[in-house]
Formats: sequence, C-alpha cells, structure tokens
Amino acid sequence: MKDINWNNYSLETQAIRAGHKRTHEDEHSMPIFTTSSYVFKSAEQAALRFTGQAAGNIYSRFTNPTVSAFQERLALMEKGERCLAFSSGMAAIMAVGMGFLKTGDHVVCSRSVFGNTVLLLQNYFGKFGVKTDFVDLTDPAAWESAITSNTRFLFLETPSNPLIEIADIELLAAIAHKHNCLLIVDNVFCTPALQKPFELGADIVVHSATKYIDGQGRCIGGAVIACNEIIEKFIYPYLRTGGATMSPFNAWVFLSGLETLAIRMKAHCDNALELAKWLEQQAGIAKVHYPGLQSHAQHELAKRQQSHFGGVLSFELNGGKEQAWKLIDATEMISITANLGDVKTTITHPATTTHGRLAPEARAAAGIKDSLIRISVGLENIEDIKKDLLKGL
Ligand SMILES: *Cc1c(COP(=O)(O)O)cnc(C)c1O
Repeated sequence: MKDINWNNYSLETQAIRAGHKRTHEDEHSMPIFTTSSYVFKSAEQAALRFTGQAAGNIYSRFTNPTVSAFQERLALMEKGERCLAFSSGMAAIMAVGMGFLKTGDHVVCSRSVFGNTVLLLQNYFGKFGVKTDFVDLTDPAAWESAITSNTRFLFLETPSNPLIEIADIELLAAIAHKHNCLLIVDNVFCTPALQKPFELGADIVVHSATKYIDGQGRCIGGAVIACNEIIEKFIYPYLRTGGATMSPFNAWVFLSGLETLAIRMKAHCDNALELAKWLEQQAGIAKVHYPGLQSHAQHELAKRQQSHFGGVLSFELNGGKEQAWKLIDATEMISITANLGDVKTTITHPATTTHGRLAPEARAAAGIKDSLIRISVGLENIEDIKKDLLKGL
C-alpha cells in the first residue's frame, strides 16, 4: 500500500480512504481486529513497546488496529493532530475532565449543553471540589466575567440543543486564550462535515460518535481530538489507565459511517431547511428555531461558521404540553425517541424527556417551553415527513 499523505486530500476522500493500513492479506475493506492482546517477537520488543520506546500494538484497551484506523480518519477530518476513541461520548468528555481537572479548579460551561455533561461537571467533578459556572451560550461578556484565576477550560456545544442557538467559536477561543484557558467544543451537532472548530481556535473537540458519525443509530462511541501534546500528556494516560475503550466492532461501524458522513449531512441539512421553512408557514406554530431561517438571531454567524445549517430544529406550538404531546402522538411514521443524527426522523418533547430532570425554573431560564418540540430531521422523503407532522398540526 502506498504511503499517502492524507492531509493533501479533501474531507470526503479522507472519510473513505484514510486510516486503513492494509495487511498482508490485501483486503480492500477494513477488517475488525478482535484480539485483546498482541504477540511480541522477543522480551526486549515487549519491554520497548510497554515503555513507549517502540511503536506497535500492546493491548486493546489502548491499541487496536480497527480503533486506530477510526482515530486517524476522524483526526484528519477534524483537522486535528490526534484523536482518541472512547466507549461513549460521555466517556470522551469524562476523559477531558479527568485529564485536566484537580480539586480547586474551575470550569465555565454553556448552560445549553447535553444534560449528562451538566450532571458530570456538577455532581461528579463537583464532588471532588471542581466548581463549574454555567453561562448563556450566546453572551460572550458572561463567559469572560465568569472566568477566574482557577479556570482551566471553557466548554460549549454549538448549535445548542434543543433551541439551536449558535456560539461564536472564534470569539470565545480568543477570550479563553486571553485568560490562559482552553476552549473545548462538543462538535456532535455539526460534525467536521459542517464545522471545523480547530480552524476557529478551539483547543479540544469532543464527539459522541453515536449520533451523525454512526448515522444509523447502531452503536455507542465517542472521541477526543487535540494536538499531540494534549493527547500525549493529558488524555492518552487516562484512557490507558481508566479503560473507557471503544470496541473494535463499534470502530468498524463508525468507520463506514464516516464514509458517507459528508453526503448524509448535506441531505440532512437540505431536508431540515425545507422543513423549517414549511413549519414557519403552518398555523398553530408560534416559533421555529433553525439557524437557516432569516428569523434566527444568529443566522449570519451560522452562515459564516458552518457550511450548512444542521439537521436538527425545534419549534414552539401555540399552547402547552397538552398540544405538544398531541402532535407527537398523532405522527405515524416518525420515531418518538430522544436520539438524534439518525437517517430516521425522530421527535422529542424536551421539557418532559431530555430536560425533564431540570427544575421548572431552570427550564424556564433556559428558554425550554412546555410547547417546544425537537425534530432530528432524517433522510426520508421530505413530503412524507411533512405529511406525518400535518396529522397533528
Ligand atoms: C449524545 C450526546 C453526548 C453524549 O454522547 P453518548 O455517546 O450518548 O455518551 C454528548 N454531547 C452531545 C451534544 C450529544 O448529543
């Protein structure tokens, strides 16, 4: 196999070809290496590998060829130096915390991040004396004034869930660096096909591969991407010791997910934009949240920062929970589930599911109304999606 520098290729090509090191069997498709350990040619080689003086596989908790192929491919696509795969998106975020935080440290986090990210920082890192302040994603002044001398990193998701607000990554990276902090971006909603946080100044990108990277709702996985130094010093030692490893089978599924990522994301975005415009025209709808709409507060920022507007939207009905549940229950085809990033369209009532554990006041402060519905727009025919929603509108 030729030694190709994949940095010279575009994302669509990297997604299909990078990472696979063909074996002596000359296979065309990436194999799954189901082996827990590897055999050394001598005691000396074993010693050199264990101490890191020689490259090569050691033990599949932290070295596996299928997982390595996934890591190499995703790092290239994100334009980061190195990627490490984890057993889930939460395990990836946990690894960043375990790698960087100690008692007395401080974190500034967007108020609009994945619910378990809030719980992880607040309840678990909080238990060990790490304090987290949560701020409005779209208010840079609030981010800056929350930073203290102990702040280690700023953490955000953009677009946010479920209100699809957009943060200015470049501006927040500048604020973070001015105060000697790192900026961590959860890039799950956009994936590298739509948004490249490193080009905007982010220091670490985290992923739940469970969503668009898989794309068909099959496996759980996650990843951390950063420069060599951060991975080598802070993330790899934790993965090797902590053991939240991605399985080779899941890596194999995610590798083929990446192959079609760019084309799927484009199709998700096309369907979502058309659905958002259509929803804005329907009676009974108070507001549609989608950055591709002129009515979205950060429409211009989204246009600048992303190549397309994403596959997730939300909307508020006239009324409350009763109207929202009625609409959800009236659909025939769309799946009632909280997962997103699937080829299947999914519908969720955030106030009673993903954000149901928040106190009503906290939910109101976050702007999540009882009439709010979130849709992860799939790749079914858009007219069928509209028809299904019309049943309850
Ligand atoms: C799902 C999700 C996570 C957590 O990922 P898991 O793979 O479910 O552990 C983190 N961030 C975002 C934005 C997500 O949607």
